[in-house]
Parts: sequence; structure tokens; C-alpha cells
Amino acid sequence: MDEEPAKKRKRDSDDDILRLNIDRAKESKLWFEDGNIVVVAENVPFKVHKGVLAGKSEVFSDMFSLPQPSVQDMSNVNEHFEGTPVVRLTDDWQDVKTLLAGIYHLEEFLENLSTLPFAVVNPWIRLGHKYDVRGPRSEALRRLGVLFPVSYHLYLENAILRDRFIGSNLKRFITIYNLARSQNLRDILPAALYKCSSLSYDVLVSGVGEDAPSSLSPADLVIILAGQRNLINSDIGFLKKLIAFTPSENCSTPDHCHYVTRLNLGVYWDDLIAHAGRILSTSPTVMTYMTAGNLCLHCKNHIIDEVQKYCVETWNSLDKLFGLKR
Ligand SMILES: [Zn+2]
Repeated sequence: MDEEPAKKRKRDSDDDILRLNIDRAKESKLWFEDGNIVVVAENVPFKVHKGVLAGKSEVFSDMFSLPQPSVQDMSNVNEHFEGTPVVRLTDDWQDVKTLLAGIYHLEEFLENLSTLPFAVVNPWIRLGHKYDVRGPRSEALRRLGVLFPVSYHLYLENAILRDRFIGSNLKRFITIYNLARSQNLRDILPAALYKCSSLSYDVLVSGVGEDAPSSLSPADLVIILAGQRNLINSDIGFLKKLIAFTPSENCSTPDHCHYVTRLNLGVYWDDLIAHAGRILSTSPTVMTYMTAGNLCLHCKNHIIDEVQKYCVETWNSLDKLFGLKR
């Protein structure tokens, strides 16, 4: 006899907590008066439509087809909020909000944002996988692939976009690497590893991301530091190769160009060595040092070609340099 009033009191106080958070759903246009399911995450209720969610996700579809309230009295499936059935998720409410916004308002995201903020990309990939919501997940993967591409040319082209997307907080690279690793985003990993290898030891060891606490596991730290060492050795090998400069075959002043190149190497050697490990990102500066002075145009272009060729080959070898298995 005592049980029923206690249960009711609990239900009422649960409802009060949800009621306090309705505005969060309304602000995100995720409270539909004609909705027929309330999705709750961290006590934030989103009143949405079973049909819409089930149409986008088999996981939601299965979830909604669980036994009806009258049959099952043990779990949360019998919970209601203001007369509407409730489904509770264990995820962060902002992640759920972003996923639902991706389901209901994907076009708005695509129209209004030339780059998606990482705070959107991240939940679309993680929760998109968890709940098998493909549209937002595919879009997020496509954006991430543009910024962490498989090709070196795209990497150079998208440098400005990448800066806008990642912001000024370099620690974001660690979050992206962890996301790529946990979601097995094989195409993203080489570029993400490379970007992590450009971080200082301090950031690598104690890194905390902008959006969520994020640090590298000891095993990943070893992978990145070993790859960084391989990359530095590779860059130094390339710079040494420049010492054995052979003028362009079209050069009409080979002795002169040979002399200028030696001079450049002598003057800029310390600066060049300081670029070891990050020539992929600083190749324009390396080219500037190496083509200084009155080198003939053929030899200038020859050196630029060599640097570009090296960068493309190195980018394609990131897998090997960081010990990734295909
Ligand atoms: Zn020349």
C-alpha cells in the first residue's frame, strides 16, 4: 500500500526535473507539441517523433519496438512525461541534442556552415555510429576527411579551412586522433597522427581538449613519438640529399647555380634543420631558403619540384612512418 504513493512522489519529482530543462530542447527546436516520444538524456527531455527517429535509425526503431508499458513494469519503458512515453539515453545531453538536430535540421547545418564546428562533427560521428544514424555521420566524416585528407595536395589546399575548424587550440588534434582511433577512421588516422606529432611534448603528455577531457594513452604516445622520430630522420635525409644538388638539365649556368645552392645551404642550414619533422607543413619556407639568391629559373623550379615530390612521397608514407597497418 505504501509503495504506490512513494512511486508517485518519485514520478512527480522526476517530472519537475525534466520540466526545468524543457527550454533547452525548445531552444534547439527539438520540442514538438505533436511529438509522440520523449527522449531524455541527463534529464533534458526532447519531445520528438518515433516515426522520424525510427526512419533514420534501426537502433531507435528497435528501441521503440520494445514491449509496451502495460506488459513491462520493470524498466524505464513504462515511464511517461506529461502523458508521452519516455526513452532514456545514457549519453551527454548536448551530444544527443546535436544528433537529433542532425536528424531534424541537417539542411540548416549544410546551408549555414561552410565548416562544421568540431562540437557537431564529434557527436555526429560517435553517436551516429552508436545509433546507426547515417546522414549526419556521413556528412561529419566527409568534412573530417577534407581536413585530414589522404592526399598531400588536399592537405595543403585545406590548411585555412583546417585552422577555422580546429581553432587556436592545438590540443584539439589529440581529441581528433582519439576519435579517429576509437571509431577506426582509417583514412583520417595518418593525417591525425602527423598533426599530433607536431605538438610539443608538454601538450602530448598533458593534453586536455577544448570540448572534452582528452589525453593520449601511453601506447598512443609511444606511437606518435616513434613516428615523429622517423619523420625527423626522413626530413634530415632529404635535406642532406639537397647538399648533393644537381642543377636542372636545362640549366645553362650549372657552376653558378651549384655555387648559389651551396651558399644557401651554408647560410640557412640551421634554419632548415629546425624544420626537420614538419617539412610537410613548412615546405614553402624550405623552398624559399633553397631558392634564395640569383639561382636560374630552371634550377629554382627544379628545387621546388624536388621538395614537392618529397612531400607527396612522405605524406603517402605516413602509414609506414607511424607504424600503421593496412
Ligand atoms: Zn641553373
